[in-house]
Amino acid sequence: MLLQKDYKFWFCTGSQDLYGEECLQHVAEHSAIIVERLNQSGILPFEVVLKPTLITNEVIRRTFNEANTDDSCAGVIVWCHTFSPAKSWILGLQEYRKPLLHLHTQFNQEIPYDTIDMDFMNENQAAHGDREWGHMVTRMGIERKVVVGHWSDERVQKKIASWMRTAIGIIESSHVRVMRVADNMRNVAVTEGDKVEAQLKFGWEVDAYPVNEIAQCVEAVSVSDVNALVDEYYEKYDILLEGRDPAEFRRHVAVQAQIELGFERFLQEKNYQAIVTHFGDLGSLKQLPGLAIQRLEEKGYGFGAEGDWKVAAMVRIMKLMTAGMKDAKGTSMLEDYTYNLVPGKEGILQAHMLEICPSIADGPISIKCQPLTMGDREDPARLVFTAKEGKGIATSLVDLGNRFRLIINDVECKKTEKPMPKLPVATNFWTPMPSLEVGAEAWIYAGGAHHTAFTYDLTAEQMGDWAAAMGIEAVFIDKDTTIRQFRNELRWNSVYYR
Ligand code: MN
Repeated sequence: MLLQKDYKFWFCTGSQDLYGEECLQHVAEHSAIIVERLNQSGILPFEVVLKPTLITNEVIRRTFNEANTDDSCAGVIVWCHTFSPAKSWILGLQEYRKPLLHLHTQFNQEIPYDTIDMDFMNENQAAHGDREWGHMVTRMGIERKVVVGHWSDERVQKKIASWMRTAIGIIESSHVRVMRVADNMRNVAVTEGDKVEAQLKFGWEVDAYPVNEIAQCVEAVSVSDVNALVDEYYEKYDILLEGRDPAEFRRHVAVQAQIELGFERFLQEKNYQAIVTHFGDLGSLKQLPGLAIQRLEEKGYGFGAEGDWKVAAMVRIMKLMTAGMKDAKGTSMLEDYTYNLVPGKEGILQAHMLEICPSIADGPISIKCQPLTMGDREDPARLVFTAKEGKGIATSLVDLGNRFRLIINDVECKKTEKPMPKLPVATNFWTPMPSLEVGAEAWIYAGGAHHTAFTYDLTAEQMGDWAAAMGIEAVFIDKDTTIRQFRNELRWNSVYYR
């Protein structure tokens, strides 16, 4: 469900034939060694594939077009071992449409002081060959990532690894399909947006279905399938009856199991990877999908509440970008709910009515069944937990009318000072960087929403690079943010992104 393609990245070395056949042979040998070692490092999440050295306009153009049409290629890494006249790259670059990394490295780490001569200099001249190439990419206005350093350096390898995940977000964005089983909540502004522009910019397909169509699919799920899933829940989660009758409690849980199975079948059948619901528009569904949505999010589906399709798509993309990550700590939709404003203990309690993804849970997860304060359905079952501690990023994609803006806030997740036994929902608690005071002020100036797509497993840099590749504005709120500078940035951006 999460990431079905076995993506690869192509390694293309630029050179020219001015220095003879022997030099080109060395270039090819060095590139092969670099690719082999990168793959052996265990640091890169995807395989790097060596391509023949690029020296002519024809070969460059053909290689980039092959990269375009090869479904398994998620991006190209370019390095110019020797000088590679950049006019030869124009047509290939013009036609290339996938993520691009410029690895500015050289084969040797140290200058060979005792033996260095002009042959060596001509063979190992990335220092100026890569500048010629970078000039052309800049002149053409092509978005790319530049990584500088020796290829054997773990820091460099980690930067390549990090960019690979960004590239997956870029490549996969145009495969995200969001199912809306209800419209946006009436009168709410920030969850709205231009779906045509979203498809132009991000490639997202955002389609509506009558809620009763998916409800029929839920009703068609057999009792035996429901019972089997409820058994799984009871094995996996702690059951917190809190005075409720056990049989009645189980019946409520079974409603969510039926929704999980029915929703998943409907999404699979119609090929959607993200979904929105709305507590005020549930048709014949007996409960607001809570536990059911939480389980689907954990499986990799994007989710946005109250019709928030932008958050649903962003959660899906961030889940794809972190797919298969070792020691991943989780990705979820969250909502800024309530503050702790005690000096020195400031933070925002993050929660939602129900639908927080258990991938961010720390410790045991329980099932509770409680009334909703909104809507008109029976008490929904939900998974309750607290989230992990540590650094994360909260992102909000807003539609400003003439453009999209992605707001990215570094946050520090903590445990609340005391448990909250009466709160029947999953929570996270964080302090936005650089402080609650500056972070929230900047967030509000930027027009950030109350719903966010949150993850522990990506960096602001990765999401900023993703936004740049989508051709949209990104603003960062982090340890270096000052209000004066941030407000100026918003003013300047309003001119640039006109
Ligand atoms: Mn909400």
